[in-house]
Amino acid sequence: MEQPLEQPQVTVVGSSNVDITALMDRLPAPGETVLADSYQLTPGGKGANQALAAALAGARTEFIGAVGQDPNAQIALEQLDAAGVQLGRVARVPENTGVAIIQVDAGAENCIAVVPGANASVDAAAVKAAGELHGILVLQGEIPASGIGAAIDAAAERVVLNLAPVIELERRYLLAANPLVANEHEAALILAQLDGADQPVDEPEEAIAAKLLAHGIASVVITLGANGCLVAEGGTVQQLPAVKVKAVDTTGAGDAFTGALAARLAAGDTLVQAAGFAGKFAALTVQGHGAQASYPRSVDNL
Ligand code: ATP
Repeated sequence: MEQPLEQPQVTVVGSSNVDITALMDRLPAPGETVLADSYQLTPGGKGANQALAAALAGARTEFIGAVGQDPNAQIALEQLDAAGVQLGRVARVPENTGVAIIQVDAGAENCIAVVPGANASVDAAAVKAAGELHGILVLQGEIPASGIGAAIDAAAERVVLNLAPVIELERRYLLAANPLVANEHEAALILAQLDGADQPVDEPEEAIAAKLLAHGIASVVITLGANGCLVAEGGTVQQLPAVKVKAVDTTGAGDAFTGALAARLAAGDTLVQAAGFAGKFAALTVQGHGAQASYPRSVDNL
C-alpha cells in the first residue's frame, strides 16, 4: 500500500518550462535564417529550478504549477521527479507546456523568447483550487500576479519572494516577503514600485536594501553575482562574499541560491546562515553548464 506523502517543508508555486537552446556562430538578424550547430531540450523555468535546488539542498519539497499535455511536459518535470519533489498538484492544462526558445552565439551572447503557455494558467483560481500550502512558500514572477497573491494569502509559514521578472504586485504582497530575494536590478525596480516612481533610482545596493526595509519588508537579500550578496534585516545590512570559483555558466545561479536558501530556512538556519549556505550552493552551479543540470546532487561537503 502506498504511504501518504509527508508534508513538504518547502512549497514552490511557480513556472516550469522546457528550454530549447540552439547553439550557433552568430545570432540571426531580423528576417535572416542562420544554420545552428546543435540544440538541446532541457528542463527550466524559475519555479522548477528553485524547487529542484530546495530538494537537492535537503528539504522535502512540493512544486505546484501547470504543464500541458504535450511531450514537453515530461521533460519539464523529469529532474524534479528524479529528485523526489512532490508533483501531485501540478495541473495538466490544455495549453502547451511553457517554453523558452534560446539562441546562443559563439561568444555566449543570447536572444530569448519565452512562451508562458501553461504557466499563464497558474492564477488565483488555480492556486485556490490547489488547496492548503505547507511549509515555507517560495514564489517568483513567472506566473500571473493573481496567482502569487493567492499563494501568499494561503501561506502557512514565511514567504520567500524572488520577484523575477519584476511584475506589478499589490503593495501588501510585496510587504509579505521575508525575505525578498532579488538581484541588484530587480531590487531597484521593486523599490521604484513601492515608491510609486516611474524609473528605478541609481543608488548603491546597501541604500536600496535599507529603503526596502523602511517600506516595511521584514528582510531582504540582494544577490550580487560574483560579489556575493547583501542580507538586510532588523535595520542592519551586511555583505556576504561569494565563494571564489571559475564560473563557466551562471544560468540558473539565482534560482539555485533561492531554492537552497529556502531549504536552509526550513531546516532552522538564521537568514545569514541560510544565505551563506545558498552562496556556496550557487557557486557550485556556476562551474557547470546549464541550469538544472549544473545543480549539485550532493551537499554533504557544504
Ligand atoms: P541568474 O539570472 O543568472 O540566475 P541572478 O542575477 O538572479 O542570476 P546572481 O546575483 O547572478 O543572480 O547570482 C546569485 C548568487 O549566485 C550570487 O549571490 C552568488 O552567491 C552566486 N554566484 C553567481 N555568480 C557567481 C560567481 N561568478 N562566483 C561565485 N558565486 C556566484
